Parts: sequence; C-alpha cells; structure tokens
Amino acid sequence: MTNVDDQEIAHFDRLAARWWDPQGEMQALHAINGPRTRYVERCAGGLRGKSAVDVGCGGGILTEALAEAGAQALGIDLAGEALDVARAHARQKGLALEYRRIAVEELAAERPESFDVVCCMEMLEHVPDPASVVAACARLARPGGTLVFSTINRNPKSFALMIVGAEYLTGLVPRGTHQYEKFIRPSELGDWARAAGLDIVGLKGLRYNPLLRSATLADDVDVNYLMHCQKP
Ligand code: SAH
Repeated sequence: MTNVDDQEIAHFDRLAARWWDPQGEMQALHAINGPRTRYVERCAGGLRGKSAVDVGCGGGILTEALAEAGAQALGIDLAGEALDVARAHARQKGLALEYRRIAVEELAAERPESFDVVCCMEMLEHVPDPASVVAACARLARPGGTLVFSTINRNPKSFALMIVGAEYLTGLVPRGTHQYEKFIRPSELGDWARAAGLDIVGLKGLRYNPLLRSATLADDVDVNYLMHCQKP
C-alpha cells in the first residue's frame, strides 16, 4: 500500500468526529452533496438497483446519498476513524451500507469490473499518485459503467478561492486541507482517464456560494469540477 500520504490520512482521521456536522469543518462537502449526487444520478441514468463504489468516502456523506438514491453502495477509504464514523452514522440511519478500509488499487485487483457506478470525489488531490487511483477506478467499473471524479482545478483563481479564501479568510475549509501543487487541471485528469481506457463524457463546474452556503452545478470549471467518464 504505497499510494497514500499518511499525513493526509491523519488529517482526515482527526476530523472524523466532526464529519456529520453540517455547520462544522466538513460543511463544504455537505453543501455540494445534493448537486453532485444528482449529477451522478443523471450520468448513471438513475441509481436504483445499481452497485456503486465510493472511493475515498471519508465519513460517508456521498456514500449515504448514493444509497438513499437506491444504489447498493460500498465506501472505501484508508482513514479508519472516518470509516468508524461512517459505519456508526449509517447504522443510526438504518442504511444497509458497506465500508471497507482498503486501497483502491487493492480493491480493483480483488473485484475488477464489478461496479455499475464508481465515484471518486475530492480525493485525487490528496494522493501521491492520482493517475494510479484513476486507473484503479477504471478497473473497478464494469464495461459500460459510469465513473464520476471530482477535484479542484489548478490556476490563480482556484488558489485565491480555495486556499486564501476558503482556508485563510473564511475558515470554510480547515487550514492545511489543500496543497495548491496537488490541484489537478481537467486536461490532466482527462489524460489519466483516457490512459486508463475511459471515454470522457462530460465536464461540469461546481460553484459554491459562501453567503448562501450552498452549491450549484455550473459551466465554469475554474475551481471545483466534476468529470463524467464511461468505460467502453
Ligand atoms: N469523498 C468524500 C470525502 C472527501 S475528503 C466526500 O467528498 O464527501 C478526502 C478523503 O480522501 C478522506 O476521507 C481521506 O481519508 C481520503 N483519502 C486520502 N488519501 C487516500 C488514499 N490514498 N486512499 C483512500 N482514501 C484516501
């Protein structure tokens, strides 16, 4: 298990207890969860009865939404404390969800081509080798399966909004969460997806409104964005 930055895992484990507070440190993930879940639903042509894996699921904000939309969902992450919180929260809500502490590359070797839907959100900018994660996600999808990645673009605007604005001026995101150099341009993510044999179907921006504390899909992909891919 080499494609992991232990400091990143420790950072998210430290935040585990706060994961489900919609006003807390993870509020941005809560705010974007509705629009991104609807996007996944649309890309997949509905989620009811589909098998879905949520890669880098953390405390399970997206994983639960996928399950609530009717998918049979598995969440994987390497942050054990975040996974404990995810399990406890799902149990409390009576959701039949599965969580595992396993690297995506390992799961891909164990269960290749077994998921209708593969999501990997806000995780690629936290790993040493994001292309390897994209390739493993591609391997997890069944032929014809839907993949949705989300991450943060790398340019002066994303630096200003995501580092200076979100972490230092407003405290919307805990300080030290993101490193600018690890942000990913859509062209780079697209190259990795194509190299993994995926077709790129769509690209959408995700615009966060700090005053309303809500997010909407948008055409501008300068900061947060979602990429929809399909496995041929
Ligand atoms: N995808 C979730 C959580 C995003 S936070 C959501 O959008 O709601 C980033 C997550 O990536 C954290 O839970 C962190 O533990 C996880 N992560 C970071 N590096 C990882 C790795 N190498 N393998 C698996 N998960 C990782």
